[in-house]
Amino acid sequence: MAPAKTISIPYIEGDGIGPEIMRATRCVIDSAVNKAYGGDVRLAWMELLAGEAAFRAYGEYLPKETLQEITQAKVALKGPLSTPVGGGIRSMNVALRQKLDLYCSIRPVRYFEGVPSPVKEPQKLDVVICRENTEDVYKGVEWKRGSDEAIALLSILRERLGVELREDSGIGIKPISEFASKRLVRAAIKYAIQKSRTSVTLVHKGNIMKFTEGAFRDWGYELAKAEFGDATITEAEIASSGRPRPDGKVLVNDRIADNMFQQILTRPSEYSVLATPNLNGDYLADACAAQVGGLGLAPGANVGDSAAVFEAVHGTAPKYAGKNIANPSALMLSGVMMLEHLSLGEASRSLMKAIERTLAEGTLTQDLARMSGSSRACGTKEFSEAVAARI
Ligand code: NAP
Repeated sequence: MAPAKTISIPYIEGDGIGPEIMRATRCVIDSAVNKAYGGDVRLAWMELLAGEAAFRAYGEYLPKETLQEITQAKVALKGPLSTPVGGGIRSMNVALRQKLDLYCSIRPVRYFEGVPSPVKEPQKLDVVICRENTEDVYKGVEWKRGSDEAIALLSILRERLGVELREDSGIGIKPISEFASKRLVRAAIKYAIQKSRTSVTLVHKGNIMKFTEGAFRDWGYELAKAEFGDATITEAEIASSGRPRPDGKVLVNDRIADNMFQQILTRPSEYSVLATPNLNGDYLADACAAQVGGLGLAPGANVGDSAAVFEAVHGTAPKYAGKNIANPSALMLSGVMMLEHLSLGEASRSLMKAIERTLAEGTLTQDLARMSGSSRACGTKEFSEAVAARI
């Protein structure tokens, strides 16, 4: 008998609701792997510390051992981490993504039957937001009003560049580079091709910020033409050909961010993959999640060339911590993405189907039950048991 294949999976429980949603998620992932492969594949879970738990143990929020283990395993499942109040580290979530160079945030948003939604036809939304994860506001380059740095910058702007700003301004710098924009758009187009998605829309505010947001759009088109010329087509090319859009090619188009926000509500079925700079993508992902039931159902992956960390979009929801109330679906769906990434497709599909059935049969945690006006809500643990029973 061949020995079982063991895959090492580092995980970070996280703060707040992290431990309980992680427990629920590991349990259903193990069930799905067991069901799909019998004893042939085994996941060896390895707990890593970060956040409050790491601070209690080591006096630091993001120990280097945690980063090393993830780098070595090339994968991790992560619970939410709270941002320490009072300085030191800006955000551990941001720090983790930057230190491991997880440059592409992938957030799929789709409707699940049985889930109450604030819109009339939530099933029309099925998008994947590929958001740049290292630059723009995530770079965190800013100085406080009145600081030496802010004053120095104000004088350089005034004296060398002829730009007059108010003395009482805080100063932030928004860098968007060709390198980071192109690798993000490359990842988005590759994703669209691999998953047979029909379009990649470059979302930007280039009408106002021409050399950052506008450049993101221009570099995106350039990259699509140079590296995926045979596999993609633009709206301009379709218009100039005078022929209908050909089958089998990924449409690359662009939308100004404010228009994108209204189109994703009014014409959701026209969009498939959205490639965005950091801040636009942040807003869009939560707005899209709200259309299909909220943050409790929004999974995510942060992917680089050498590692991928899977985590829910939501945070630590501290008021629900330890109360068996939180919805674990977003982390479970991140687990679905992780299994697919690990080429455990059968387990990934079986877990997805079990989550779909659980929700469709009306087993809802309080965040979803209250939207449908129901007073019957199940707890985190009961939801997890219901999913496990359907695997
Ligand atoms: P949050 O933790 O996402 O919670 C905001 C609200 O969303 C909650 O009050 C709750 O809404 C709802 N919610 C989120 N997750 C839920 C779940 N699993 N089940 C049910 N409801 C859920 O955002 P926050 O309060 O702004 O942030 C709290 C901390 O988390 C902060 O320290 C922040 O920095 C951190 N954070 C971490 C991450 C990450 O680790 N990736 C991401 C975002 C925020 P109702 O109150 O309406 O019930």
